[in-house]
Amino acid sequence: MPSVVISARGEERLHGGHPWIYRADVADVQASGGDIVQVRSRRGGRPLGSALFSDRSQISLRMLAYGDHVADETLVRRRLDAAIRFRASLEIDATAYRLVHGEADLLPSLIVDRYGEHLVVQALSQGMDRLLPVVVSTLEELLHPKGILARNDPRARQLEGLEQRVEVLAGDVPETVMVTEVGIDYDVDLRRGQKTGLFLDQRENRAAAAAYARGRLLDCFSYNGGFALVLGRRSQETIAIDVSEDAVARVRRNAARNGVAVDARVGNVFDELRGFERTAERFDTIVLDPPAFAKNKAAVSGALAGYKEINLRALKLLNPGGTLVTCSCSYNVNEAMFAEIVYDAAVDAQTHVTVVEKRMQGRDHPVMLGVPETYYLKCFILRKLA
Ligand code: SAH
Repeated sequence: MPSVVISARGEERLHGGHPWIYRADVADVQASGGDIVQVRSRRGGRPLGSALFSDRSQISLRMLAYGDHVADETLVRRRLDAAIRFRASLEIDATAYRLVHGEADLLPSLIVDRYGEHLVVQALSQGMDRLLPVVVSTLEELLHPKGILARNDPRARQLEGLEQRVEVLAGDVPETVMVTEVGIDYDVDLRRGQKTGLFLDQRENRAAAAAYARGRLLDCFSYNGGFALVLGRRSQETIAIDVSEDAVARVRRNAARNGVAVDARVGNVFDELRGFERTAERFDTIVLDPPAFAKNKAAVSGALAGYKEINLRALKLLNPGGTLVTCSCSYNVNEAMFAEIVYDAAVDAQTHVTVVEKRMQGRDHPVMLGVPETYYLKCFILRKLA
């Protein structure tokens, strides 16, 4: 069996439960990229477990099993089965949700999302890419989908030296798929939509936020209209803004399909918020769900400035007693940093704000303790007092 020896520091990390070993902690490699390898201790060559090996990424090893346990196809099948059973137990109010959330399902670098009778998979490491045929045949066996699409176009694949491509791996996948989430029907473009088609991680936050929606609603960074449609059912007037024309066209179609009145506008949220301030408009509910402003550590300070600006402007536009639903999906901006930024914005807006709910990504995207990378989405529901 191919093997990789890791340093004492790597071993320490491994004992802490984190499944990644970085290249700097690899001492010797007897393997090629994509192999399932035996991981060995530098001290006496003791076996520490099995992992997916990458010869390109900074993340050299992604642990699959520990100690003497071997990682083989049967293990992958068992984990897929466990992940799918867990989602079934959640009684999710949607026909689209995440079935496999990578590391948090002990299937590092694998994503599987369900969209009704179709599945979308992403393999984000050399090792998982090689395991895709096993993943696909297991999913077919367990779920009998009508089709399986590989959305293997994320940039992360470049870091692995893998090709970026979108292809049907099994059955048929139509141009658009209809799904229902929290009582709203969406048409989803699985091939070209963002992420795997929808932002499935926000489902429970949309449902929770709906309880506070009333009056005039502003949904910023609306994409296909997830928040606008769910909250719009309880609002008198709804404005949704996104910079993507394609997304706005979809908001309009989804709004018509669901009988929710939404004024969907193409625009840059930063400019639009400034415009609303100039014309002294006011809202009762505002949603801020921007893209990840900090895609890496170097981008954090710029990102914080961006988060502060939109939160400050939104708090100013909000009527007293109104609700701000504010999100960050930057892993590099952690919950404490995000809370601090929102607090700074409240101070600058000269208003008092209470935290009504602190939320995160939905239960089908679980966070693994000790693996901070799995906790990326923060969602605070705030009340502006005065
Ligand atoms: N709220 C959405 C997901 C938002 S994803 C949902 O619940 O499904 C972030 C969105 O922000 C993307 O659709 C992207 O097109 C849009 N976007 C990025 N930068 C923007 C900007 N400066 N102004 C407006 N929209 C922007």
